[in-house]
Amino acid sequence: RPILGIETSCDETACAVYEGARGLLAHRLHSQIRLHAEYGGVVPELASRDHVSRIHELVRGTLADAGLQPQELGGIAYTAGPGLIGALMVGASLAAGMAAALGLPLIAVHHMEAHLLAPMLEENKPAFPFLALLVSGGHSLLVAVRGVGEYELLGESLDDAVGEAFDKTAKLLGLPYPGGPELARLATAGDGRRYDFPRPMTDRPGLDFSFSGLKTAVLTALPKHASEQDKADLAASFQEAVTDTLAIKCQRALKHSGFKRLVVAGGVGANLRLREKLGLLAQREGFALFFPRQAFCTDNGAMIAYTGWARRAQGRLATARIFTTPRWPLAELRAPESS
Ligand code: ATP
Ligand code: MG
Ligand code: FE
Repeated sequence: RPILGIETSCDETACAVYEGARGLLAHRLHSQIRLHAEYGGVVPELASRDHVSRIHELVRGTLADAGLQPQELGGIAYTAGPGLIGALMVGASLAAGMAAALGLPLIAVHHMEAHLLAPMLEENKPAFPFLALLVSGGHSLLVAVRGVGEYELLGESLDDAVGEAFDKTAKLLGLPYPGGPELARLATAGDGRRYDFPRPMTDRPGLDFSFSGLKTAVLTALPKHASEQDKADLAASFQEAVTDTLAIKCQRALKHSGFKRLVVAGGVGANLRLREKLGLLAQREGFALFFPRQAFCTDNGAMIAYTGWARRAQGRLATARIFTTPRWPLAELRAPESS
């Protein structure tokens, strides 16, 4: 039976229904971008309150789109973490309430596991095992994935996440929030070879990342009275440095793991230059490349419903109690669930 998925970890209120045989039955999303834009970033308290005011209608609408009565569901999945605690609590309480009222299993989903499994919603989906590059607003991870729930962390960012580096650099260039997609747009008008920014931590072994220095490099290179062309060239050169760095680390991790499949997910996975570069690398090195559609790179309900369904199919359910956590390392995924 279909699983309802609810996502409220940050600034997207999202909901979807997934079922194994029929796939994704419906999904809806409300982005809070305009709510937070004037503050230049997500304001946690505003985020929680907005989730509260939207979630009920979103769930009702998604079930209507799917042509389902709540009684026809087979379980309720929600994002339990990592994320903003107040925002998480909104989805968790609604999910727990629905599960209790309907007598359905409640499935606590790890937000990064859901990002990682998002390509499973596409026609061209990866078989296990694969390497996953998870690049989002809060995380930069290289993960060896041997199956659902079998994750080995190979590398991570020691400071800023990739999406965070995009957003902070965009801010330096005077671009509106959220900066990542804006910076990518500006970069299309720029010369990516004008500024020779570092490819951090590629000259030494290992799979960890560091992106905070790149933002400083952009700040240092930024002329006092930068022209539009200067800014576009800075954006393009920054994007080249980030995507080169990610491509180098992916290539290294594939060699190290021996995997022949690479999955790229999380918000920065929507970046077209990154997709293009990894596509060329895949051709040259002979590995298969998988992405979620662009809309499922950033936060969405479909990936939560899918992960809930995959977990239920495995028989590995969450406990009945509500569970939320702002910090939840992917490698510790099993612990909170079996407790
Ligand atoms: P996390 O998943 O780590 O908790 P999050 O949910 O906030 O963080 P996502 O929604 O997965 O992150 O992704 C949002 C991030 O992706 C933002 O930092 C945004 O700037 C970045 N992003 C989105 N589109 C693009 C793009 N085209 N190019 C670069 N960055 C992008
Ligand atoms: Mg978001
Ligand atoms: Fe996310």
